Amino acid sequence: MATTATATLTIADADIEQFTTALRGELIQPADPGYDAARQVYNAMIDKRPALIARCVDAADVIAAVTFGREHGLAVAIRGGGHNGPGLGTCDHGLVIDLSSMKGVRVDPSARTARVGGGCTWADVDHATHAFGLATPSGIISTTGVGGLTLGGGVGHLSRQCGLALDNLVEVDVVLADGQFVTASANEHPDLFWALRGGGGNFGVVTSFVFRLHPIDTVYAGPMLWPLERSADVLRWYRDFLPQAADDLNGFFAFLVVPSGPPFPEHLHGHKMCGVVWCYTGPLDQADAVFAPIRAQFGPPALDWVGPMPHPTLQSMFDPIYPPGHQWYWKADFVNELSDEAIALHVRYGAELPTPQSTMHLYPIDGAAGRVARDATAWNYRSAKWAQVMVGVSPDPADNERMTAWTRSYWQALHPHSAGGAYVNMMMEEGDDRVRASYGEYYDRLAAIKRAYDPANLFRVNQNIAPAG
Ligand SMILES: Cc1cc2nc3c(=O)[nH]c(=O)nc-3n(C[C@H](O)[C@H](O)[C@H](O)COP(=O)(O)OP(=O)(O)OC[C@H]3O[C@@H](n4cnc5c(N)ncnc54)[C@H](O)[C@@H]3O)c2cc1C
Repeated sequence: MATTATATLTIADADIEQFTTALRGELIQPADPGYDAARQVYNAMIDKRPALIARCVDAADVIAAVTFGREHGLAVAIRGGGHNGPGLGTCDHGLVIDLSSMKGVRVDPSARTARVGGGCTWADVDHATHAFGLATPSGIISTTGVGGLTLGGGVGHLSRQCGLALDNLVEVDVVLADGQFVTASANEHPDLFWALRGGGGNFGVVTSFVFRLHPIDTVYAGPMLWPLERSADVLRWYRDFLPQAADDLNGFFAFLVVPSGPPFPEHLHGHKMCGVVWCYTGPLDQADAVFAPIRAQFGPPALDWVGPMPHPTLQSMFDPIYPPGHQWYWKADFVNELSDEAIALHVRYGAELPTPQSTMHLYPIDGAAGRVARDATAWNYRSAKWAQVMVGVSPDPADNERMTAWTRSYWQALHPHSAGGAYVNMMMEEGDDRVRASYGEYYDRLAAIKRAYDPANLFRVNQNIAPAG
């Protein structure tokens, strides 16, 4: 009998053939010419070799793939945009359900909703919604997948104005572990809908998302940078200023290195700096007045690229700095209070950014995101003010050790000043305790829902919630 070998089992060729026939999309195997390209994910540190990659094109393909994976005892990874830090959109020896071809976006301008295919990136969504002068919250890079970002939270430029990405989810279509196709919303399978909003890919494969849209078209936005020597002052001011600002002003703080090339001014090339990336969604005729005191705060900023721009321009502004294929290592925490002591540590580690692409971001999660009822979703950190992430990034694998060491030691220094929990979207594989820290008191409720929808833990290639025993 001809077989395909995985690390732990063999699959008869006849079964593979049957699977291929059941799919409208492609089934990619290790001997296929496209295999190496198909198995790559965004983080070049990840080098996994799945036994099979099913490029699904519709829900029927997903049902066939889930059924095949379950019946053959394979580890099943769900791939949306492929941006997950530890590479949880792929796996060794198992089956990857690759949704990247499931791309459609249908905007309903009168209902102000969009139905979004399970494999869309945020660029797909922003492009489609912007034509109607509408937008929904996402992250800060447009190549990130809708699937992973939304199901784990979704912190971005519109968090203070419109909440997290998952707060704007109205309905999802899901293929469950037993192959059943269900719709989950506030009215249908409300337990599943609750768990999916924060619980990541633990409960099934989402084949489409329906998002609420907001009238956001031209934003007044962009980066404002100051010299690194001012970072303690900037951080202290930022800490006190932003929480009392109106919801229509969002700004994430960053340590960064100015890229050495156009369009950045030559005299700043290669300089370590601190800054805030703003996004103001209020009336444009009031933007100058809103920013006048900010601009005056420390004298003119060293770089001020804040101005009116289409929302998708802001969303894709940093894409060129972070193309796929760089090495990534990151660690994150939630933060309730940014003490002077924590700021002093930030200043110390910010000055030691190990590579030009490495960074630290503090994302505000107050405003609209902070006002959502705490138990409305499985996202556990509603009362925190910030999500803080230290990110080592480099195109060169030779930097991995150095940037990983910096990220770890920066995180260790700041962790005692944090709210104690993790953010599943900005974690590496950090063990069960960190997953539990993400969900806190919701973990047991999630584990019970996991038992109801995926008792055998078919969907375990993720920040895993084990089914309750
Ligand atoms: C450059 C970059 C910028 C980022 N910026 C932000 C940001 O601004 N804000 C923020 O909150 N996060 C951000 N992230 C983190 C991001 O949210 C996570 O990495 C997330 O996992 C990426 O989702 P994905 O679909 O691209 O990833 P994938 O690797 O494809 O999937 C990750 C996991 O999500 C699950 N999943 C994905 N799609 C589906 C689906 N359709 N159904 C069920 N499960 C699914 C699976 O469990 C999978 O293991 C960023 C990441 C990167 C690399």
